[in-house]
Amino acid sequence: EDTSISREHARVVRSEGGSYRLIDNGSRNGTYVNGKRTDGADLYPGDRIHLGPSLVLRYSIVDETEERLARQLYEASTRDALTRIYNRRYFNERLVAEVAFAQRHRAKVGLILFDIDHFKKVNDRFGHAAGDDVLRAVAASVTRLTRAEDVLARYGGEEFVVLTRSIPPAHLLILGERIRSGVEALDVPMTSGTMRVTISAGIASLAECGPHATGDVLMLLADERLYRAKSQGRNCVAFE
Ligand code: GH3
Ligand code: MG
Ligand code: MG
Repeated sequence: EDTSISREHARVVRSEGGSYRLIDNGSRNGTYVNGKRTDGADLYPGDRIHLGPSLVLRYSIVDETEERLARQLYEASTRDALTRIYNRRYFNERLVAEVAFAQRHRAKVGLILFDIDHFKKVNDRFGHAAGDDVLRAVAASVTRLTRAEDVLARYGGEEFVVLTRSIPPAHLLILGERIRSGVEALDVPMTSGTMRVTISAGIASLAECGPHATGDVLMLLADERLYRAKSQGRNCVAFE
């Protein structure tokens, strides 16, 4: 997920004897094993692999149980326990990396920040467990509306954010509107009957923020617009 590294920086091949060898694909920033630059090196358990400016990996051969455990630990540190979408910490890390990459390569990054309208009333009327069901249903619904390369995260209690790449501003607005109407049409099953909620959204694109803007600037702009969408009567999307 580190955007500062080429997708073709290095590869691992299995040699005839059954051992594994790391091969640098002529990368600009080099491949290092245990601190030494290499064009190709046999790998041994515990080796530290350094790719590009910042990515450090540890090489090890694990069995399925160990792999599952490592995966679970990683998931637990990046996912929100209630909705299973990404958590705020993961989002913040990705935002910094994506904005840095986009500024260097003049690529597009956009944010759609949205917040469930009058969510406190949902809890007050139907209880906290019903509120949790709504949060899960909204997260699942928006997951279906976004692409795999978008980062959907739970930013706070009933506040979510989608980070998009290479979507032009006009399409960002279409996606925001699709998310808004998708949530509005969602029937959340309750113990008796169903319930509906709406969201308000603020959209911002990095192109609006200037060539030196950071993720914080982009986030602030999306937040201002979310506030505007709320004050314009909710269940709407604010942009530019
Ligand atoms: P607005 O339209 O202005 O956004 O009004 P609101 O009621 O949605 O906003 P407010 O910030 O006043 O209330 C947010 C509520 O979200 C209060 C809090 O109890 C609830 N909430 C936050 N996290 C969770 C959660 O994990 N589960 C449940 N059920 N409720 C939560
Ligand atoms: Mg709210
Ligand atoms: Mg809120």
